[in-house]
Amino acid sequence: MNAQKLSKRLETVASFVPTGAVVADIGSDHAYLPCYLVHKGMVKRAVAGEVVKGPYESAVRQVRTEGLTNSITVRMADGLAAIEESDHIDTVTIAGMGGPLIVSILEKHPEALKSVTRLILQPNIHAKVIREWALAHGWAILDEAILEEDEKIYEVLVLQRGNMTLSEAEILLGNKLIAKRSEIFIKKWGHELENWRRILKSIEKADATSEIEAKRAELKALIALVEGAINE
Ligand code: SAM
Repeated sequence: MNAQKLSKRLETVASFVPTGAVVADIGSDHAYLPCYLVHKGMVKRAVAGEVVKGPYESAVRQVRTEGLTNSITVRMADGLAAIEESDHIDTVTIAGMGGPLIVSILEKHPEALKSVTRLILQPNIHAKVIREWALAHGWAILDEAILEEDEKIYEVLVLQRGNMTLSEAEILLGNKLIAKRSEIFIKKWGHELENWRRILKSIEKADATSEIEAKRAELKALIALVEGAINE
């Protein structure tokens, strides 16, 4: 991967950036995503935020090497603190972290989202907590994607301001992903079901303590929820 040729995962994130957007990429590491967006002419200006010194220095070097210092500002900052009001950022991308870390970044400096109309979030795990955060904070799911790369399955969530209602199954699996029912989506939830059924079978033999009973009930409910959603 480099600034000209992104991974499939980051390319999917990039595909949801509106042309002409002003983007902040938080946790940018090498700043490949903002460099790619500017090279492609999709965005004119971007901010790359990084909290760790090593990746921050990689981002600074990359932007310099690509000759993009006039278009991309690299800032060493914690999460959304990389965004300044005068940037007029309208799109934020946060990719390659767990869902809970993405949510904690969104919650720490909510004032930085004032001018933002689109969030493109790519959790490596636990996308569910992002959907819960969106529901509670006036964001609605515009689109979702699911892809496989290097034997890992990733979800990308695109949010815009607005309200939505989601069922329990839609919070876990994603309303747009349920509607699309792609092969990779079925594969992901097929693996989860297999795993839960295996755990359920193994604890079925265990003594029925109240903890075991609760775990059994939890697994059975999850299995029924996911089976219902993917077989609808
Ligand atoms: N976004 C790139 C991608 O998707 O390929 C890099 C992902 S990398 C696994 C996660 C990056 O997020 C690391 O460089 C890490 O230092 C950075 N990071 C983690 N927490 C952060 C925070 N609170 N603020 C800014 N950057 C953060």
